[in-house]
Amino acid sequence: MKIKSWRDLPLGGIIPEPKTSLYNKTGNWRAMKPVLDNGKCIKCLLCWIHCPEPAILRGDDDSVQIDYDYCKGCGICANVCPVHAIEMRLEV
Ligand code: SF4
Ligand code: SF4
Repeated sequence: MKIKSWRDLPLGGIIPEPKTSLYNKTGNWRAMKPVLDNGKCIKCLLCWIHCPEPAILRGDDDSVQIDYDYCKGCGICANVCPVHAIEMRLEV
């Protein structure tokens, strides 16, 4: 079998329509669910910066909310929160 060069490969990375990832509600991938305690939150926004989805919604006053439609339950937000305001719980 002849190994193809990169010149033989079809073009990739084409996005025919913008914002299509919005149709993929990745929240149903979740096994663990982040639960936010607003009373502990100091609005440092570390969770907002680190969320890979992103599924942390930032309010005008820098308060945060979790968008469960897209949160995959990776736990990064809970891991980076300096005041442990986010607890990972088993999804039920
Ligand atoms: S669990 Fe992961 S995907 Fe969900 S809000 Fe936290 S960092 Fe984002
Ligand atoms: S990392 Fe913790 S304290 Fe900082 S905004 Fe997120 S929930 Fe609030």
